[in-house]
Amino acid sequence: MREYHHVVDGQTVDLPLGKVVCVGRNYAAHVRELNNPVPTEPVLFIKPNTALVSLAQPIMIPIHLGVCHFETEMSLLIGERLIDCTEKQAESAILGVGIGLDLTLRDLQTRLKDSSLPWEKAKAFDGSCPMSAFVSPDKLGDLQCQQIQLHQNQQLRQDGNSADMLTRVIPLLVYISQFFTLLPGDLVLTGTPEGVGPLAVGDELELCLSGVIHCKTEVFAKNKALL
Ligand code: ZN
Repeated sequence: MREYHHVVDGQTVDLPLGKVVCVGRNYAAHVRELNNPVPTEPVLFIKPNTALVSLAQPIMIPIHLGVCHFETEMSLLIGERLIDCTEKQAESAILGVGIGLDLTLRDLQTRLKDSSLPWEKAKAFDGSCPMSAFVSPDKLGDLQCQQIQLHQNQQLRQDGNSADMLTRVIPLLVYISQFFTLLPGDLVLTGTPEGVGPLAVGDELELCLSGVIHCKTEVFAKNKALL
């Protein structure tokens, strides 16, 4: 996390690394693949800023904690304070758009869910949010028409489109801001399309958002002795 700064259009921006507000179950096909009920309202959770790492670096996964899944998600960098905001305020607060991973310790999450306990240990651990640099939203056009792709070792694993979100980007920001104030430097992850799966040490990953953002990285084991 220490080397990581928010970058928009190639420029480092003077914003703190904030929290990451995530939405679960925002694509119906992904809800079905994990046998979850389709939610009637957005399912929200938070990763702290210690979860953020740059996708320009190798990904370090805590293999001693069990199976770690990739979830590839379009992300939003917030540039203005949003509290109980309107759709118009939400729209003008999006400073950048990126792509990242919501890394999930799936076995641990299943155990926590089965015990009706919170997910944090499975979702919010150090390094659980590898993130691309951002581009201005005007470089992408309609945020509900973005292709989200992940290749794992040259195999296409996730190939979704933001058109299929259950809660769309702007209503999602409005909803989030009713619970959590969004501050400049905070991120919002907009949910994963279907195709999530386990990571293995040595995997090569390629993330792509609509042909505009490309990131390549590889997967290493997090060595507790080096922490
Ligand atoms: Zn997710």
